Amino acid sequence: MKRPRGKGATLRRGDKGFDAAVLATSFSGRDPGRRPDIYIQANKDADVVAAVKLAREQQHRISLCSGGHSWAQNHLRDGGMLIDLSRLNAIVIDAGARTARVGPGCWSIDLDRALKRVGLFFPVAHAPDVCLGGFLLQGGFGWNSRALGLACESVVGLDVVLADGTQVHASAEQNADLYWAARGAGPGFFGVVTTFHLKLHERPKVTAMIMQVFHERWLEDVFTWAHAIGPSVSSSVEFQLLITPKTLFTGKPGVEVLAPVMTSSWKAAREATAFIRQSPVRKRASVSTPLLPLSTMRMSEGAAQTHFPPKMHWCVDNMWTDAPIADLMPGLRKVSDTLPPAPSHALWLNWQPNRARPDMAFSMEAGFYFAAYGEWRHAEDDARYSTWATDRISEMAHLGKGIQLADENLGRRKARFMSDTNHGRLEQIRAHYDPDGRFNSYMTAP
Ligand SMILES: Cc1cc2nc3c(=O)[nH]c(=O)nc-3n(C[C@H](O)[C@H](O)[C@H](O)COP(=O)(O)OP(=O)(O)OC[C@H]3O[C@@H](n4cnc5c(N)ncnc54)[C@H](O)[C@@H]3O)c2cc1C
Repeated sequence: MKRPRGKGATLRRGDKGFDAAVLATSFSGRDPGRRPDIYIQANKDADVVAAVKLAREQQHRISLCSGGHSWAQNHLRDGGMLIDLSRLNAIVIDAGARTARVGPGCWSIDLDRALKRVGLFFPVAHAPDVCLGGFLLQGGFGWNSRALGLACESVVGLDVVLADGTQVHASAEQNADLYWAARGAGPGFFGVVTTFHLKLHERPKVTAMIMQVFHERWLEDVFTWAHAIGPSVSSSVEFQLLITPKTLFTGKPGVEVLAPVMTSSWKAAREATAFIRQSPVRKRASVSTPLLPLSTMRMSEGAAQTHFPPKMHWCVDNMWTDAPIADLMPGLRKVSDTLPPAPSHALWLNWQPNRARPDMAFSMEAGFYFAAYGEWRHAEDDARYSTWATDRISEMAHLGKGIQLADENLGRRKARFMSDTNHGRLEQIRAHYDPDGRFNSYMTAP
């Protein structure tokens, strides 16, 4: 993605440059064919208030984007108004108080970089250009989130423009139900967040990664080991497996074992990743790296280059699972056997929530997370690949508890994304704050 340039403008269907400007809001290069009637690029909070009031007057439904990383292009709907928050990207850090005020259009890597200068940390997303707007609303599985919690757990307040055009602050003390909803509602939130108030953390002294690469013939052995060892892996390690048609170093189909680690010393980092060096499958690895120091910025940029190049066409789907590995294995093998070409991949993340969460809308997680990311460059291949991720995850869905909104695909497949109790409460809060349904809610499968 590119950072927004110049002063934001308002464009309507039929205006010169309208189509290109609307499509440029998306990380995905795919044209879903959906267009708003009016597209407003906000420069400041007052523009958002004015836009929402205009939408009320003219009876437009509203959709929103900050960084446009919704795989499903949730912000592109037919008709209505699209408000683009990418220019609201200010970062104001109070290092002494360990707090920050950040706009929804702020890139993950920009906040990480700014905090590094003052020795502080926030669990931003793993790709540089994912913006805080969508990331924080859906929960936020960021760097070191296994240890620090979901990123939204470090949101202490939000400034929100409501459906009636008023701007309010939401926190545990003020508009507490809105605050509850904003931590997990994701693309179904019913207000415009113009500022996030964040609690900051101490920056880990050591950030490093160890990696092993396996040929696809060892997939069953690697997953059986990873599944068994997962619950005992330290929360300082983001232990994950990537199934890919083109592994790093060998270029062959297989599994990459990746373990970024964040600790207060090298000794602790080595101890936390010892399970990889000592694993029973290690002798099968084509490549084993030592534990290498790598900043979160370098790892994010690396992931963007290798796995998330811009303007690709995507199909993505996912599931949380606690199922036995023997039950999951046929599905994992089929994902590997049917992957579209690189950089398509599937992610197996050892999540293992190990503490109670605060009361908030976010309420769906499990021991393991599995997501399939199909990507291709040309529109001619849309018909060939566009259902791949949903086909594979649908086949395994009986083994899952539900989905993560980060990688949601609700427009194609109906799935549970929060507990039934929380979903019920969210809809009650929506009815209070947005009785006319001014804001588009979740996409629904046809
Ligand atoms: C390459 C890539 C890497 C990713 N890595 C991670 C990761 O490491 N961890 C993780 O948890 N997720 C990750 N994601 C998922 C990502 O967090 C979500 O797609 C998120 O919604 C992106 O936020 P955004 O602002 O960039 O996207 P947008 O598409 O702009 O936002 C998604 C939706 O959120 C809502 N929204 C956005 N801004 C606002 C606002 N200001 N007020 C109200 N509603 C708003 C809208 O409904 C919008 O359609 C990744 C996605 C991609 C494409």
